[in-house]
Amino acid sequence: MLSILSAASLACLLALVQSQSNPAYKVHDMSRPQPPVVSPGNASTQKHAGTAPSDAVVLFDGKDLSQWRSGDADAKWKVVEGEIEVAPGTGSITTRQNFGDCQFHIEWMVPKSLKPNAQHGANSGVFLMDQYEVQVLHSAGNVTYADGMAGSLYGQHPPLVNACRPQGEWNSYDILFTAPRFNDDGSVKTPAFCTVIFNGVLVQNHSEIFGRTAHAARASYSKHPDALPISIQDHGDALRFRNIWVRPLGN
Ligand code: MG
Repeated sequence: MLSILSAASLACLLALVQSQSNPAYKVHDMSRPQPPVVSPGNASTQKHAGTAPSDAVVLFDGKDLSQWRSGDADAKWKVVEGEIEVAPGTGSITTRQNFGDCQFHIEWMVPKSLKPNAQHGANSGVFLMDQYEVQVLHSAGNVTYADGMAGSLYGQHPPLVNACRPQGEWNSYDILFTAPRFNDDGSVKTPAFCTVIFNGVLVQNHSEIFGRTAHAARASYSKHPDALPISIQDHGDALRFRNIWVRPLGN
């Protein structure tokens, strides 16, 4: 009897308790909409690139650079063996679409033929909104300043740990990015935040971005649109990339 009463009491309580995340619903409200169904992609291995979740914008799946441009022209980097290879000296490649808040996935590899030397020889980068860099750099046994290592927010936050794989092996970044918000007068309403998982290891935990990436200088913000392209840096080194996708998060 006691358990029956308890169950009834619990049901009564549940019916009265308002959700803290959305007051339009009760806690455990069956009328609350079900989240969309997404088929997850397949994980990558060293030998084979994985696949994107079903709701992702696929930016490179081994075929072509149609989602990218070099300035106003078609992307000038190469597709070799189903991988993108930087064409040094041609400039960064930039997505044709704009993105704000997003989940971004990319895999990168420093071929054994390259000669990493601190910031030289094996350097690239993911520029969210074309201006906030998550550094790409061969960082296994290649010493440089901490806020310029792989997984750093360049010049702002070193990675929590160094999870870089040896030269010739594939690395992955899973990046959760929250775009900055600006007030009408151009001041910062809320800064950007970035979480980075490097080869499955957390290296940036909701780190605050202090402004546009700068070299040897403090960063600051300039008001910009809510969505901008993502670019990959040409730092003069022929790194490889594969399995690139993004899930816009609806800002
Ligand atoms: Mg870089």
